[in-house]
Amino acid sequence: MEPLGLYVHIPFCRRKCFYCDFVSYPGKEALADGYIEAVIKEAVLNKEYLEKRSVDTLFIGGGTPSLLSPKQFLRLVSGLGAACRFDLNEATAEANPETLDEEKIDAYARAGISRLSIGLQSHDDGILRRIGRAHAFRDFAKAYETAAKRFSNINVDVIFGLPGQSSESFVSTLEAVLNFSPQHISAYSLKLEPGTALAEGYEGASEETDRRMYHAAARILSERGYRHYETSNFARPGFECAHNLKYWTGAEYVGLGAAAHSYITDGVHKRRANTRSLEGYIAAVNRGEKPVAEETVLSETDILTEYIMLRLRLKSGIDFAGFEKRFGFSFADRFAEQIETAKKAGLIERDEHGIYPTLSGFDLQNALICEFVNAI
Ligand code: SF4
Repeated sequence: MEPLGLYVHIPFCRRKCFYCDFVSYPGKEALADGYIEAVIKEAVLNKEYLEKRSVDTLFIGGGTPSLLSPKQFLRLVSGLGAACRFDLNEATAEANPETLDEEKIDAYARAGISRLSIGLQSHDDGILRRIGRAHAFRDFAKAYETAAKRFSNINVDVIFGLPGQSSESFVSTLEAVLNFSPQHISAYSLKLEPGTALAEGYEGASEETDRRMYHAAARILSERGYRHYETSNFARPGFECAHNLKYWTGAEYVGLGAAAHSYITDGVHKRRANTRSLEGYIAAVNRGEKPVAEETVLSETDILTEYIMLRLRLKSGIDFAGFEKRFGFSFADRFAEQIETAKKAGLIERDEHGIYPTLSGFDLQNALICEFVNAI
């Protein structure tokens, strides 16, 4: 059996960023000790997966995991280590610049964290204020320099399409990040989610500006030696995120914590989502119940649809041999017409081994996916 990925959601934040639609609860850090114990208990409740099978990637995301104290963080990872069969080749912790210091970075290293992911978003302090971030660029610079003394695998998150951000300003953000030479950069197009503070007063960048920024990122980062391996992700060779690759390649993972998702294929393929409520999560686990709010069993058509949707996010695309091994029929034969149409439109390249999205294919990802999915 393939090793599992393990995702742990830490839903605490100092305050809510204006664009944020993630499950995070500002001002509830007082619940963190109880929450950590609940996450460890939830790992035990999932021992049919986490004790029986090895776990080779760990991703502690949020929220703001770096809001946890060193003691809380070490308790979390050691508790998980006792409940799971860890054989980790990658362990990521997400962090926000204003909450990172030497003591925490030391705790992460002692806990076995091998990869840090730092949320910068923009180098421009005016833009950071407009989107409600709690840090300034100098906080990022200080946090990065401290982290780089202990970690040689660091990701930096940036966003384009932000209010007050011109293409030139976004390029300056990229240049500012590149000065630190991180191993991995995630560049996301801003999604204005209904109900967020930003969605009320900002319409978003025009499609043209958004794409200009995306193309600038693709060009500049590839010139600087980063491989554009996923729609929004760029890595130096060998530094692709192994945990996130599990999501995009349909590998199995268990999610622990409020709002965490799991994908398990024991007999049937199941997607599971935990309750989003922080208090509800802690209470359910303390009653000895799995805090699952929703479980979906996937049909073979669902699995095929997801496979195509997720693989077309990756530059490695759809490998014909891998597809045939998984589904028992030829992708090239079944989707011959769609391959031809997408190729003519410049959305994919094709060779005898598979199909690969082009930059235009990433631009028009929904259209590309629909081309194939509508033919299922
Ligand atoms: S730090 Fe991240 S999770 Fe927390 S509010 Fe901001 S965007 Fe949301």
